[in-house]
Amino acid sequence: IELQSFNAVSVAHQLTVLKLATARNIVDATAGNGRDTLFLAQNSGAQAMITAFDIQKTALNKTRQLLTEHRLMEKVRLIADSHANVARHVTEAVDLAVFNLGYLPGGSHEISTNADSTLAAVQQLIALLGAGGLISLIAYPGYPAGHAEHSVLQQYFLQLQPKIFTVSCWQMINHTGKAPVFYLIEKVRS
Ligand code: SAM
Repeated sequence: IELQSFNAVSVAHQLTVLKLATARNIVDATAGNGRDTLFLAQNSGAQAMITAFDIQKTALNKTRQLLTEHRLMEKVRLIADSHANVARHVTEAVDLAVFNLGYLPGGSHEISTNADSTLAAVQQLIALLGAGGLISLIAYPGYPAGHAEHSVLQQYFLQLQPKIFTVSCWQMINHTGKAPVFYLIEKVRS
């Protein structure tokens, strides 16, 4: 990956890129414009399959277009469903799952991720993670629904058993308390 200045997305990419080399089963819980899906496809091996979810057709179409332009669509399965139903579509052990919460950049701000469905998806993915598996999640506490969503997730992460999971986070702290927050959850043993 390119060396770039630090922000929540670039930190997420830098901390997950090594896992991608060996990952087989990858979930992009929020496909959006496909930029994260593209990163996952470009940096994973030939063994990898990425299952990408979005509830907006426009988002899935943009993701398909971007991945097709890069000739990487054969590594991607697009699912037009809420990530709250992830366990219906993904049944094998997950190596890496990524969330980039909020609304579609350039799209309607009305259609955003929310606390209930995000928590449901995170809980299912926690159960699906294999040993050494990772969840990368970027939350946006800077708008009211995003603030509520972030609080619910933070409470959930805080009570994960430390013998089984490590949870770390990264945020720019001189930008107001509302800068995006990146979480990395690792299942250290099953
Ligand atoms: N990863 C994307 C990218 O690289 O362009 C950005 C994701 S964008 C910030 C958040 C996306 O989550 C939006 O496209 C939105 O439609 C989607 N979303 C909202 N609620 C969802 C849900 N319940 N299940 C799946 N996707 C959802």
